[in-house]
Amino acid sequence: MKRPFQRGKQNPIRRRAKKCTITSLRLKYPVYYTTLENQEGSHVWMDGREMIMLSSNDYLGLTHHPKVVAAGMQALETWGSSSTGARLANGSRSYHDALEEKLAYFIGAETCHVNTAGYIACMSAICGFAQRGDLVLADKNIHSSLWSGINLSGAKLERFSHNNPADLEDALRHEDTDTAKLLVFEGIYSMEGHICPLPQFLEIAKVHDCFTILDDAHALGVLGKQGRGTASHFGLDDRQVDITCGSFSKSLASIGGFIAGDRSLIEYMKSHAKPSIFSAALPPAQVACASAALDVLQDEPEHLQRLWDNVETYNSILKDLDLDTWGSETPAIPIVLGSKERAYYFWKALQEKGIFTVISVAPGVPPGKDLIRTAVSARHSKEDFEQIAEALQYAVKKAL
Ligand code: PMP
Repeated sequence: MKRPFQRGKQNPIRRRAKKCTITSLRLKYPVYYTTLENQEGSHVWMDGREMIMLSSNDYLGLTHHPKVVAAGMQALETWGSSSTGARLANGSRSYHDALEEKLAYFIGAETCHVNTAGYIACMSAICGFAQRGDLVLADKNIHSSLWSGINLSGAKLERFSHNNPADLEDALRHEDTDTAKLLVFEGIYSMEGHICPLPQFLEIAKVHDCFTILDDAHALGVLGKQGRGTASHFGLDDRQVDITCGSFSKSLASIGGFIAGDRSLIEYMKSHAKPSIFSAALPPAQVACASAALDVLQDEPEHLQRLWDNVETYNSILKDLDLDTWGSETPAIPIVLGSKERAYYFWKALQEKGIFTVISVAPGVPPGKDLIRTAVSARHSKEDFEQIAEALQYAVKKAL
């Protein structure tokens, strides 16, 4: 017979939570989950103090765009606050269909499906297709949502070196030709700022008959013609990627995500991806904001132009200070500092000077790549960059 619960003996999960060193460190050094009281353009307010936001993913700076805000308010008035459940249970709404049609057309896919979060969309893009017995080949640096999808699918996993077609080929050389294979990678890696070698990956996928899944969360709105994404950036608009997934929480100034591809594939996904089937549909205001942002980025090319001008300005500041940006080619620009301590003091110095950034340390990044993640927005002004340059000079003196 089981011994009865002893008073005073702590439950193992509570004990584990209490002993966790990462949690203790987080409580001692409140680096994450900082509360901001206000936000306006590229500026935020923390403890009543105005700061420059240098780590958000609002690449095109459309979060306060009047057309985006008005569309969200109108949708709230028309449809109310919620989609009230999963689409399988209580139907799609016309606003879902309209956004799906518009977005699919924009990125050059036949159709797409929208979800309440990019995380759910990216998970579904994998577990909606991969199954036990299949082999997933994944770039080592892919996002957590994709790893979650792989885990949920039960497929076998083979990782290859980040952005390395030769290593991918090597991994495939030893594989059984009859096994169903899926190749998973991102368009822009948000921590590193790297762009994937899409043409080479597609060539290898063709030779080895791999189903390709591209997470374009950070490339949508940033790369290619009008911001159509990675395929457009490489001039590959002809549906060579099987599935493209992504998020609305970056350039589209909203919340949500999508999975795009041929109609037959998206219909298949709808009956195989549990995170999509059993979670509530995207609410009206978020759909309206994403949809309005999609219009704005096509009607007002100046946002994309300003974003890339700002990337150039920011990179020249970082270069003058001889800071390591891990070869970033995009608006997501890390400052690699190489150790937790250096990253922490650098981050603190920037904060002292009114610049909001975020730290990422191992195991979140490879050992020796501890970094400050920074990202440029179209909303950053000339004055912002003057303050950023001064703050960086101060952090270099203080922390390095
Ligand atoms: N994929 C990538 C590459 C991401 O960076 C993120 C979020 N940062 C997601 C998917 C998930 O998107 P969301 O935040 O919209 O859930």
